[in-house]
Amino acid sequence: MSNNEQSALQQKNNAHHFNPFSDNKALAAEGPRVVTHAEGVYIYDDQGNKFLDAMAGLWCVNLGYGRKELVEAASKQMTELPYYNLFFKTTTTPAIELASKIASLAPAHMNRVFFTGSGSESNDTVFRMVRRFWDLEGKPNKKQFISRENAYHGSTVVGASLGGMGYMHEQGDLPIEGVSHIAQPYWFEKGGDLTKEAFGIQAAQALEAKILELGEDNVGAFIAEPFQGAGGVITPPDSYWPEIKSILAKYDILLVVDEVISGFGRTGEWFASQYYDLKPDLIPIAKGLSSGYLPIGGVIVGDRVSETLIEKGGDFNHGFTYSGHPVAAAVALKNIELLESEGVVTRVKNDISPYLQKRWQELAAHPIVGEARGLGMVAAVELVRNVETRERIEPECRAGTVCRDYSLDNGLIMRACGDTMIISPPLVITHKEVDELIEKAKLTLDQTAKHYGLM
Ligand SMILES: *Cc1c(COP(=O)(O)O)cnc(C)c1O
Repeated sequence: MSNNEQSALQQKNNAHHFNPFSDNKALAAEGPRVVTHAEGVYIYDDQGNKFLDAMAGLWCVNLGYGRKELVEAASKQMTELPYYNLFFKTTTTPAIELASKIASLAPAHMNRVFFTGSGSESNDTVFRMVRRFWDLEGKPNKKQFISRENAYHGSTVVGASLGGMGYMHEQGDLPIEGVSHIAQPYWFEKGGDLTKEAFGIQAAQALEAKILELGEDNVGAFIAEPFQGAGGVITPPDSYWPEIKSILAKYDILLVVDEVISGFGRTGEWFASQYYDLKPDLIPIAKGLSSGYLPIGGVIVGDRVSETLIEKGGDFNHGFTYSGHPVAAAVALKNIELLESEGVVTRVKNDISPYLQKRWQELAAHPIVGEARGLGMVAAVELVRNVETRERIEPECRAGTVCRDYSLDNGLIMRACGDTMIISPPLVITHKEVDELIEKAKLTLDQTAKHYGLM
C-alpha cells in the first residue's frame, strides 16, 4: 500500500509512533494494521476484518477479550484509590490481597510476591534478588547466571541479556557480564539422530558442563522458561527437567522458572512448575496475571530466598513507582478469581487442552509439516520441504513469514518464529472455535505448500 492510500491514522502512526520490535520504515511503507476492538477470542481492525486471535494478544489474554467484570474492578478501584505507592512503610489493599492469592496458588514453599510492572522488570528484579541473596549468604562470587540460547526473558538490558536471542544481543553489545548461555532442548532442530529422551539428557548435561567451566562457586542461578515460548513453543523432552533438577541440587544453584507465559493456567495447572514438578526459588510472572488487561508483573519468592533477603537483609533497595499498582492489582485479583470461579484452569486440563492438542496433531500429516507438538494451550508446527531429512523450505527460513501472511488473510492470527508456526489461544476458547482454528490452519498450510510448489 502506498502512503497516500493509507488512512489518516496509519499516516499519523508512520509519522510519530516508534513501534516496538519493528522495522518502522518497512512498516510505514506497508501500512500498520489498526486494531480497534475485540470480543471473546476475536479481534477486529478498522477495515472491518475479523481475526481469530490464536496468540491471545502476546500470550496474555487468558480470559479472552471483553470481560466486563475486569472493567468494573478497574473502575471501582480507580474511584476508590487510583494510585498509591508501596515504599515508605505503606501498603494497599489490592496489593495485599493479590499477593496472598498468588501465594495460595503457587507451589507450597513459595509464600511471597514482589510486584513489578512487566515481565522484563520481573527478571531485572530476579537478577538483583539473586545477587543480594548470595551476598547475604556470604558467597559474593556466586553471582553468575546460566541461561539458554533462544530463551526469551524480556527486553530491558537484563531481560535481553538473560534471554538468548542473538538478534537482540547484536544491538547494544549484550549480554552484560555475568550471563552465559547453554544449548536449548530443541529436539527437532538440534536432536539429530538421538531419541528425544537421549537428547533431553544431553541438553541438560550442557548445564553441568557450564557449571564446571565457570566453577560452581561462581554460579548463582539457572534461569529457564518451563517450555520456551517466543523461541518457538519448544517443549523439552520428558528427560530434561528431572536431569536439570538433579544437577542444580548437586551444586546448590538457585532455579528461576520464568512463568511469564506459562503462569495462570496455560498448562492446565496454575503454574508450569506444578506441571513439571519443579521446585523453583523464584518465579517471574506477568502476562496472564491480569489477562493483559493492565500491565502488571511480579516475582514469586520461595521461602529459602525470602528468609535470607528478609530475615538477614534489612532494606532491599529496589522497587518501581508502579510496583503493585492498585488498579492493575485489583484487575489481576479479579482475573484470578474468574479463572477460579469459572473453573477455567481445570477445563484447560480436562477438556479444552486435550481437544486442542488432539486436533492439532491432525496437522502432523500435512506434507510440509515436520513436527506438530504442544502442551496445555500452546502448540507449534515445523515447516519443512522434506519430512524425513527435516530440510527447511528455504535456507533462510522465510516460509514462516509467507505462511503467517496467508494465515492473516484467512482471518487467523498465528505467529511465525523462523519456520515454526505457533499458537497460544485464550484459555476460554470453545470447541467450535478450536475447529475454526484448525480448519484455517490447514487451509493456510495448503496455501503455503502450493506457494512453494510442494502440493
Ligand atoms: C513476554 C516475556 C517476558 C517479558 O515480559 P514483558 O512484560 O514483555 O516485559 C519475559 N519472559 C517471558 C518468558 C516472556 O514470554
